Formats: sequence, structure tokens, C-alpha cells
Amino acid sequence: MTFSSEKTLVIIKPDGIQRSLIGEIIKRFERIGLKIVALKMIIPKEEQVNSHYLIDPEWKKNVGEKAISAYEKKGIEPPTKDPEEAGEKVLNGLKKYMTSGPVVAMVLQGAHACAIVRKVVGGTEPLSSDVGTIRGDFVLDSYQMADTDGRAVRNLIHASGNPEEAEKEIPIWFDENELLHYRLVQDAILYDVNLDGILE
Ligand code: ADP
Repeated sequence: MTFSSEKTLVIIKPDGIQRSLIGEIIKRFERIGLKIVALKMIIPKEEQVNSHYLIDPEWKKNVGEKAISAYEKKGIEPPTKDPEEAGEKVLNGLKKYMTSGPVVAMVLQGAHACAIVRKVVGGTEPLSSDVGTIRGDFVLDSYQMADTDGRAVRNLIHASGNPEEAEKEIPIWFDENELLHYRLVQDAILYDVNLDGILE
């Protein structure tokens, strides 16, 4: 695999669509130099959401642990100390959240696509995600508020954690023939070894 062929899956979640942030979000990825190789608006099926989040058998435990430690860091008692139980609740909330309306799914390609997109997206909980990131700048949810209401954290966007995860996630949302292979003019300035075609 070459650097420039790394792919990541991005999904603008139903709240992102309802907040009219499609353009704002895509703009941030486009201007980095990432290439959009697939893009569509769909209403996710519960089965898709389930398969997507259960790709990693450790996901439920990890997501539960992450929430418990976020509570503890803030000095707040978590609703449960069992990560599996917390993870199961998150998955149920996600099924409801992700199937509640249209989403925009896309595949972005470029060097370090996964890590660069995650950096721009920001941490899972908008309350603590960095200023300047999508989740830090455009929304205000927290684990505590989501748990109080018994729902998933509304954080506008999904982005694959790493290239291996992306490879497993993409087929859940896109058929092979929906991924386009094409050259962008800017690829030359981003990836060519010799910048020798600029001067006349
Ligand atoms: P990320 O989307 O940042 O990769 P995770 O894979 O850990 O985060 O979680 C998937 C999604 O589940 C999050 O984006 C968020 O919408 C929701 N979520 C995660 N943790 C919780 C939680 N403790 N309570 C409610 N919803 C959560």
C-alpha cells in the first residue's frame, strides 16, 4: 500500500445533517487535501449500525471503560462500573441515534487519512474534545447528559480509528463499485517526489 492510498470511513451522523453542517464538515476534510472517493446520503439500517460497531469484539468493553474513566476524571460517580454493561447501553443508544434520520457517508483517501481525520474530528465527548476540532467547535453534549437521558452521545460524526478498522467498516456502507478511482490535480503537489512541473 502507498501512503496516498490510505482510506477512512466518515459518517456525518443524523444530528450533523439536522444542524446543517454537511458543508462545514466536508470543507474541513477537502481543504486538508484528502480525496473524496465515495459519497452518499442514506438512512442507516439497524443491522448496519450493529455490524459496524461490533467489528471489534472488544469495542463494547472499551467504550464502557472510556466512559467510566471520563466520569472518574471529572470526580463524578459513573452510572455503572461494569464496562460491558455500559457498552451494551451505548450500542442500544447508537442504534436509535444512527437510524433516526439521514446521514452522509463518505470514504476519504490520502496519506494518513485515518489519523488526520480523527485529529480534525476530536475526542468522543464534545464537552472535552479540543477547541478547533469538529466535535469541539460545533456541539455541546457530554457522557453525563447522554446517560441522564439514556441515549448515545450526539457528536456529529463518525471516523474510522485506523486503516485496518476502515477496511472492515467501508464494505458495511459501500459496495465496491461505489468507490471511484480517479486522479485529483492537487495530488501532484501533495505526493510527487519532484516538483518539476510548476515553472514554465
Ligand atoms: P468514537 O466515535 O469517538 O470513535 P466510540 O467508538 O468509543 O467513539 O463510540 C462510538 C459512538 O458511541 C460515539 O461517537 C458516541 O456517539 C457514542 N458513545 C460513546 N460512548 C458513549 C457513552 N458513554 N454514552 C453514550 N454514548 C456514547
